[in-house]
Amino acid sequence: MSLAFEISAAAASGGRSGVLRLPHGDVQTPVFMPVGTQATVKTVPQDVLERIGTDDAGVEIGTQIILANTYHLYLRPGHELVRRMGGVHRFMSWQRPMLTDSGGFQVFSLSQLRKVTDDGVEFRSHLDGSKHFFSPEHSVEVQIALGADIAMVFDECVETPATWQRTRDSMGLTHAWAARSKQYFDAHKHEVPWHAELGGKTQSLFGIVQGGMYADLRRESAERLVEMDFPGYAIGGLAVGEPREVTREMIARTLELLPKDKPRYVMGVGYPDEIEEYARMGVDMMDCVLPTRAARHGLLFRSAEVGEELSIAKPDTVEASDQASAESASETGRKTWVRMNIKRTEYAEDQRPIDERCSCMVCKRYTRAYLRHLFVAKEPLALTLNSIHNLSFYLDTMARVRAELAKA
Ligand SMILES: [Zn+2]
Repeated sequence: MSLAFEISAAAASGGRSGVLRLPHGDVQTPVFMPVGTQATVKTVPQDVLERIGTDDAGVEIGTQIILANTYHLYLRPGHELVRRMGGVHRFMSWQRPMLTDSGGFQVFSLSQLRKVTDDGVEFRSHLDGSKHFFSPEHSVEVQIALGADIAMVFDECVETPATWQRTRDSMGLTHAWAARSKQYFDAHKHEVPWHAELGGKTQSLFGIVQGGMYADLRRESAERLVEMDFPGYAIGGLAVGEPREVTREMIARTLELLPKDKPRYVMGVGYPDEIEEYARMGVDMMDCVLPTRAARHGLLFRSAEVGEELSIAKPDTVEASDQASAESASETGRKTWVRMNIKRTEYAEDQRPIDERCSCMVCKRYTRAYLRHLFVAKEPLALTLNSIHNLSFYLDTMARVRAELAKA
């Protein structure tokens, strides 16, 4: 089997705990997947990734699965080079599961002078302005060369906000492209670099439900994709600036329509309490650049201390979006979190770890005072240590949810 999904427990809320079995190993779900854009989770070496995060019982299992971005690896170093190096796992020396996106999101968000036709997208590289063309077939061809365990269909990412008609037109194109992606994948999946080495296993291609912020279009998209029968389904086009209630509603409406026995993946979310909430609703996989990107800006996630809800609402310590998340979390009585800015003077002589409840290698060893010094002095180690802690915070959050769901 190239993919097997076994659900061991399901809660009344819809959340489930399970195991996703992939060619490069097993993944306990629900899972948060760190983003390794250019075949690297920025600033964190692979052996360290293998030691971040715990399992349901608090045993260190490390990062279970990471993402890489097709658009970036296609442009540099090139997918054919990665294929010649044995695929992305061997190239980056990461023998655990991986997932690649289709490149669509970056084509639509990073590149210039895009021209979309029914056939595909012509775009210019954000690196050197060179001209390229991605069709569903080419995106899948590139993803087969990279060889992640899970590949994604190529879809159009509609700008937001978009009208119902514009969203519906785009969705129609996305469905046609999903069918073409699948057709190409089925004909070429044996070309993955590790096909023989792993006993004839192949990658798995997931479909992506679109439909913007319109429940009726989400329904149509989910039904259409389920007819095409993918081994897993992503919910795309969310967390693009819409209010959180809308994100939640679109996820809830879509989950109802997706097969319960297949993995469900929400792309590009979110804050710690969001990933927790969506996991409890029945989302099995999520990814987001937030923990690593925030870390490189000196912003560290940690659990809130008793009575701290008031202090985090101060406008000088936290941005508007954090206030919203923290407040909504405390309203519903969930354990909340704080994003601290390690640059602040108040940490200059603070002997405590970032988070007294965190058991990560950074919190076990270093003080806030030292981390502040490193960051203020622009030492590269600051970015690594900050990233390790934030990733641990996310992975441990999911481990906690998995443990709770396993008891359901
Ligand atoms: Zn920590």
